Amino acid sequence: MAQKPVLISGAGLASLLLAQSLLRSKIPFQIFERDASLSFRGQGYRLRLSSEGLDAIEAVLGPSAFQRFWDRCGKTGGSGFVGFDAITGVSYEEKTESLGSRDGKIVGIARGEMRRLFLEGCEEFLHFNKHVKGYELTEDGVRAVFADGSKSVEGSLLVAGDGLKSTIAKQVSGGRLKVYDLGARGIHGQAPTSAFKSLGEGVFRVVDTANPDGRLSIITNVRPNDMDDENVEFGWTMIGIPGVIKAPNDDYTIVGKGAADIAKSLTKDWNPRFKPLFDQMNEHEAAFWKITCSTPTGVPEWPNEPRVGLIGDAVHSMTPAGGIGANTAVRDSALLGRLLHEAGGYAPGVTAEYEKEMRVYGSEAVKSSYGMATKAFSVQIDDSTPTI
Ligand SMILES: Cc1cc2nc3c(=O)[nH]c(=O)nc-3n(C[C@H](O)[C@H](O)[C@H](O)COP(=O)(O)OP(=O)(O)OC[C@H]3O[C@@H](n4cnc5c(N)ncnc54)[C@H](O)[C@@H]3O)c2cc1C
Repeated sequence: MAQKPVLISGAGLASLLLAQSLLRSKIPFQIFERDASLSFRGQGYRLRLSSEGLDAIEAVLGPSAFQRFWDRCGKTGGSGFVGFDAITGVSYEEKTESLGSRDGKIVGIARGEMRRLFLEGCEEFLHFNKHVKGYELTEDGVRAVFADGSKSVEGSLLVAGDGLKSTIAKQVSGGRLKVYDLGARGIHGQAPTSAFKSLGEGVFRVVDTANPDGRLSIITNVRPNDMDDENVEFGWTMIGIPGVIKAPNDDYTIVGKGAADIAKSLTKDWNPRFKPLFDQMNEHEAAFWKITCSTPTGVPEWPNEPRVGLIGDAVHSMTPAGGIGANTAVRDSALLGRLLHEAGGYAPGVTAEYEKEMRVYGSEAVKSSYGMATKAFSVQIDDSTPTI
């Protein structure tokens, strides 16, 4: 009898890399994505890949597909952030985390590009406009339940890779998995590469400590190989401590000009060296984002449900501090994919074994990112912090 498919909720980075693993293991699967296409919403920011993240991706893709992935990654020289004072324009060497990974380079790729590469070969198994709301266990399997009340085919296992608002995560953990809104906000922006010329090559943090509402900064990565490519835009990510970045009517779903205008107004007194990053913005791509984090003590325990697994932000979302969210997510895909491969598909102990291992590095990552964020963004989780 044909094996029932592994059902995957969400077509983000973690899900699509898991799909690659299942494809190579010849384990059937179906992916359900809420959006209408992969480019439905701005794919925005670039992800910095750590050695652990690259190792996990390589283990899943195998030598030739990994080589193609590696060739698409940007490699930037320099070992850490170079800091700039936003008002004076003066630079200084930041003595913080080391950003380099493989070959000593700072390795990065746009989130949208990473998804496109991970989707290759899995297209026919991906279904768009499928908003998963929860699941229903059957006698010998599981079905995903969609927002319109319909249900998926029966699967052997349901894996939620549907991000930090995952309702499957809430259902399976009995509400133990929580995500907190830390109050700090960000804006993503993009501009033509020429706007970044005055910075030189490297990863930069431009810090404004003169803002009357509190510390505001941007991070950007200027890659020499792409500098003269007219088809490329570089991005920047702006982060403000709570109260600095405020969306009109507190609506952080606003994209485009509304978000671009706020970024321009917040940087109006910045040094002319940085002005082109905002003056020449591709306003269409501007978007707000919120700084959120799972329970900072780590991934909680819940009674394992053998037929439901959680990967990526659905089980351990973290702040952008440290740049480890996606790197941890791809480790989940590699681990769960390997365990399913070894078992020849779904087997009763697989998700329990996966959770045991994932809880160790997942918890470490959340704790570490939260610890960095408390200092960098002046945030704190306490009894009054709202959850999302
Ligand atoms: C500004 C910023 C910068 C960052 N930089 C870095 C970095 O440098 N390095 C790093 O490692 N990490 C970074 N991260 C974190 C990283 O982006 C996330 O950890 C990563 O994207 C998580 O991947 P995922 O596959 O778990 O979830 P996502 O990428 O969020 O994908 C979830 C998918 O599920 C879909 N979905 C959601 N709900 C449903 C539903 N109900 N039904 C069906 N589909 C659904 C979504 O549309 C989406 O396609 C950054 C995050 C931010 C905000």
